[in-house]
Amino acid sequence: MGRVVAVVNQKGGVGKTTTAVNLGAALAMEGLRTLVIDLDPQGSATTGLGLHTVALHGTIYEVLLGGRPAREAVHRTSVEKLDVLPATRDLVGAEIELVNLQGREQRLADALAPIRDDYDFLLIDCPPSLSLLTVNALRAADGVIVPLQAEYYALEGLTALLDTVGRVRDALNATLALDGLVLTMFDGRNSLARQVQQEVRTHFGDQVYRTVIPRNVRLSESPSHGMSVMSYDPSSRGAVAYRALAAEVAAQRNAPPIARQAAGGAE
Ligand code: ADP
Ligand code: MG
Repeated sequence: MGRVVAVVNQKGGVGKTTTAVNLGAALAMEGLRTLVIDLDPQGSATTGLGLHTVALHGTIYEVLLGGRPAREAVHRTSVEKLDVLPATRDLVGAEIELVNLQGREQRLADALAPIRDDYDFLLIDCPPSLSLLTVNALRAADGVIVPLQAEYYALEGLTALLDTVGRVRDALNATLALDGLVLTMFDGRNSLARQVQQEVRTHFGDQVYRTVIPRNVRLSESPSHGMSVMSYDPSSRGAVAYRALAAEVAAQRNAPPIARQAAGGAE
């Protein structure tokens, strides 16, 4: 059964979408069947993987609220073994519509259950909030990856995030693990960024991926071409870094972290 991984941080602009798209593409290029699930109404993962959102049939909104089977909302991408379950603006309303439904935290988990065998990895690109959509992602997930921008406020909000992960684990999903924190947009010439990396590694030890994602202009250019950085510029530092992260993440599938460990920072 495929491993469901939620890419979560309630802060915007920390590299969640960039990580979901490029980690997804890198895993697929390693031969692992991968689905990127876009759970952000902005739909950046959807467009970043080359789908045009106008008149798109089969979206995460229809799956969560319209009863459409997830398999009918999955779209192929230009990368072999990489599929996407896209989001469009109508997902904005989902939050409110979900509130009154029975099993409102459970909708995504239920929807993904029938397609988990189709994939090795299912990566959920979460919205920048700790909302009901994010709770759905955490309920559906086996593991959580938290991108942290290597800057002064990197750790701000992390306690609230890890608390939420802990609460979801206690109430809804006992085996939810913290797969790892990943430093993004790292600029090694910046002494503050190096200091932040040091601090994160001191606090969280082996819960931090060894791979650090550098600040790399190719990563910010590739979405406007509707491709991952691996297709756009395979020899760029960004592509090299996401391939290395994919190797670490792929290794975890065979030896997943113990859920209890994830409580480290949270409880
Ligand atoms: P989030 O999904 O957390 O809001 P994004 O992945 O959309 O964050 O990243 C925010 C912005 O930063 C985007 O414009 C993206 O292209 C850019 N970006 C993300 N990671 C990098 C990186 N490593 N190097 C350069 N630009 C990056
Ligand atoms: Mg995003």
